[in-house]
Amino acid sequence: MFSGVAYCADCGAKLYYCTSKSFETRQDHFVCYTSRKKGKEVCATHFIRAVVLEEMVLWHLQYVTSFVTAYEDIFRKKMNAKHNADLKKQTALRRKQIAQAERRITELSRLFKRMYEDNISRKLNDIRFEELSNDYEMEQSDLESELEQWQSELTEQEQHADDVERFFSKCRQYTNLTELTPTILNYLVSKVFVEAPDKSAGTE
Ligand SMILES: [Zn+2]
Repeated sequence: MFSGVAYCADCGAKLYYCTSKSFETRQDHFVCYTSRKKGKEVCATHFIRAVVLEEMVLWHLQYVTSFVTAYEDIFRKKMNAKHNADLKKQTALRRKQIAQAERRITELSRLFKRMYEDNISRKLNDIRFEELSNDYEMEQSDLESELEQWQSELTEQEQHADDVERFFSKCRQYTNLTELTPTILNYLVSKVFVEAPDKSAGTE
């Protein structure tokens, strides 16, 4: 379950899972990929038994999730404050991009109209007209799909409140955890270990 998730603290390489039919479960272990392949001189041997790693991570999860559960209000406030600051920046940027794209789409329609008139009056030959209109059409359809994506991003950001509450409900659920599963590990590695420290809520 820790394969691909555990890394060496010194060199940053992945930890390499070692198991064998002749091993008992408690003998399965992880070693640093660098020290295994390139030698101890490059990265000193780092070794941890899988059961020890599991126990430590489980303990840490219980600790972190019970901490989050105990200080839920502070965490909620912090998460919302950070979200609002990020959101303001992001929303402003998206709004600007949307306005620019809309302006360009209008401009393209105007250019196309002029080009069409020039073609009718023979100022622009048919081959050139064909080329230019293909370019304009392509640019317009790219812009339209970008517009659609940006607008749906703006909608997604409004779901933040639901995400926060889902996070707290998971934390309450995991406080009494007795066994790790890959699903729980994946969820919490992305949410608790990566995101929570960044909220710096623990400093209050
Ligand atoms: Zn290493």
